[in-house]
Amino acid sequence: MTPLENYHDWLRDAHAMEKQAESMLKSMSGRIDNYPDLRARIEQHLAETEQQIKLLDEVIDRNGINRSLMKDATSKMAAMGQAAGGMFASDEIVKGAISSYAFEQFEIACYTSLISAAEKVGDTASVAVFKQILAQEQAMADWAINHIPDVTEQFLLRSAAKGVEAKK
Ligand code: MG
Ligand code: FE
Repeated sequence: MTPLENYHDWLRDAHAMEKQAESMLKSMSGRIDNYPDLRARIEQHLAETEQQIKLLDEVIDRNGINRSLMKDATSKMAAMGQAAGGMFASDEIVKGAISSYAFEQFEIACYTSLISAAEKVGDTASVAVFKQILAQEQAMADWAINHIPDVTEQFLLRSAAKGVEAKK
């Protein structure tokens, strides 16, 4: 495969990853009842993610990639499976906070790789787009890791209290 063919494949992967992110963030924010800070940050990142999808659409169109070959369907299935799995956990909120951080790190690594590939093939207009997205992923990852202790403490307090919902 040529560098350009690999790059185009990775653009499709990035798009599928963001569709998965969108599904996960939507289902998380819709379920959280008792953790307003986390819910607000997830809603903010959901809006950022929807913007990222639009930016990737533009990159994909500019690269002349056929949208019918997109990989989004499988990633949405994966997100649904993950969300459904989490709903059965009594510590859903803690598991969700951990997964969110891990997913942001995955995105950071993907955009870091994509920036190198875009530079290699000379898609300089897209490098700036990926750096902008990367900064949002980094900010979300930083927020997520910094708030895992809070979420954990709040969960433990609620879980120990009688008649108080802790899981979400
Ligand atoms: Mg993203
Ligand atoms: Fe993200």
